[in-house]
Amino acid sequence: MSKRLVENSTQNRVVPGDKIAVIEEFLPDETCFEQDGSILSMTTGEVITDLKKHKITVKPIKNVFVLKRGDTGVGRVVYVKKQIASVDIHMINDTKVPLPMNSILHVSEASRRFVKNMYEVTRPGDWLKFRIVRRMKPIYISLIGEGLGVVIAQCNHCGHDLEFYRRNALKCPNCSLIQNRITANSFGKLVTSFTRTSQNETR
Ligand SMILES: [Zn+2]
Repeated sequence: MSKRLVENSTQNRVVPGDKIAVIEEFLPDETCFEQDGSILSMTTGEVITDLKKHKITVKPIKNVFVLKRGDTGVGRVVYVKKQIASVDIHMINDTKVPLPMNSILHVSEASRRFVKNMYEVTRPGDWLKFRIVRRMKPIYISLIGEGLGVVIAQCNHCGHDLEFYRRNALKCPNCSLIQNRITANSFGKLVTSFTRTSQNETR
């Protein structure tokens, strides 16, 4: 980092896991940590540097989530590959996230039973209930646990909302196609929870 950049410092927004400096330049405080000679942020916020004291800190941004391992959340699947699904996190612990954060679901975290590939688990556009297994970037989520899995899904074929058929299988009431998903036991009950959250926000 050049001297000029440090003097201008401050308004530099980072998320957990972002590199903010190298260890030769600054002493990390409790908002950051050292890894392989780099200083990485532990929180979402603005980087503030004190060149004289060689101090660096990340001032947390209000209303931005600091994720914890084990937090549960709700997210929407962006895309699905054989081994992974990309999921945008929209809610954490029943509170809406101001800016959706991207996360990764690996096929090994989809179910306790063996799952061949992600296409048996979820499809783009699905809403999932999950828990956080890695809170730093890249964020990793898991569907293994009580009440976790797909909560809303649309038909792969015609786009109609799917209905619960049996555990890990959903049926389209429009075209009768039965499709595999790893379903949560709260399948179909997500909408009310979202409505409740947005009402809380406007108070
Ligand atoms: Zn259909």
